[in-house]
Amino acid sequence: MSELSLPSRLRLDGAALVRNWRALARLSGAAACGAAIKADGYGVGAREVMSRLARAGCRDFFVATWAEAREVADIVRAYDLSLSVLHGARVEDMAMAASLPARPVLNTAAQVARWREEAGGRPCDAMIDTGMNRLGLGTAEAGLLADVRLSTLMSHLACAEEVSPSNDRQRRAFADVAASFPAARHSLANSAGIALGPDFAFGLTRPGIALYGGVPCAALSAHIEPVVRVEAQILQRRTVERGDSVGYNAIWRAPARTEVATINLGYADGIPRDWLEPTAMIVGQDRLPVIGRVSMDLIVIDVSAAPSLGEGDWVELDWRLPEVARSTGRSQYELLTGIGGRFGREWSA
Ligand SMILES: *Cc1c(COP(=O)(O)O)cnc(C)c1O
Repeated sequence: MSELSLPSRLRLDGAALVRNWRALARLSGAAACGAAIKADGYGVGAREVMSRLARAGCRDFFVATWAEAREVADIVRAYDLSLSVLHGARVEDMAMAASLPARPVLNTAAQVARWREEAGGRPCDAMIDTGMNRLGLGTAEAGLLADVRLSTLMSHLACAEEVSPSNDRQRRAFADVAASFPAARHSLANSAGIALGPDFAFGLTRPGIALYGGVPCAALSAHIEPVVRVEAQILQRRTVERGDSVGYNAIWRAPARTEVATINLGYADGIPRDWLEPTAMIVGQDRLPVIGRVSMDLIVIDVSAAPSLGEGDWVELDWRLPEVARSTGRSQYELLTGIGGRFGREWSA
């Protein structure tokens, strides 16, 4: 059988990924720097991310669920890595938790009790909720952890990418609890939390978005490079006459004779349908406007400025995350993880 060739692809820069991790590790000071690879490595590919960062020296990884842990278990074993499952261990997870090389991050009193009774002394992590009210034991419940073998104690910041008094409030609340568990590692900062300074790093940081080229706060912009490029093939090129419309609901009409090309990308691939400033495609240096409505699987661009571009040629979508987030009103997290599974993934390095 011949190999499947996909008409859209992500070009992934493995060297930039590693440089972003090294930059975040540097900014983490004396703390170890881990990596959040949940949601299939934020849509980029958890296995490819994990093996590259492991070779660069990263030892601590975080996924959301046991299904995600299972996907990378062989890499954990091969490199002798630490893997934490952020959503803890439900009753239904206990068997998987016994067989996989990963620790649950216990979040509730019931999870702690179950782990103490059923896990046979295996190590675990725990999440302390210091004010986000999302997932984790309350600070008053931390004493429940006295009888489990605690590896990493963590908390999570609600407003790390903002200037907010809640950051320091959460840091102090976490430091208070952490002082009662001197033998465990302590971890508070996500990507933006690393930028809040050394007081937030504790013993281990947990960046996610910034590894993949997201810039959650201005302080990181000088340190982070893009990792993901989105490219698609032209399926058809045509000429439309003045007054002709393009796409659903005919929201674009040609002000003059225009050359257009239809490319293999759409909102089912995670491209926002309601992108406000119709952005541009980059081909070499040319920026080609998107025209009409983004369809489920197709986008039309104005290629009048690119006479040589035709069927089968590749174009690149302007997918600089901070800029696209600004012009679409979406978060960089949503844009990155929303990129669907229909792309080929081509890693350099
Ligand atoms: C997703 C997640 C992270 C990584 O956060 P970023 O903002 O992507 O750096 C860290 N810790 C926890 C608990 C998370 O859920």
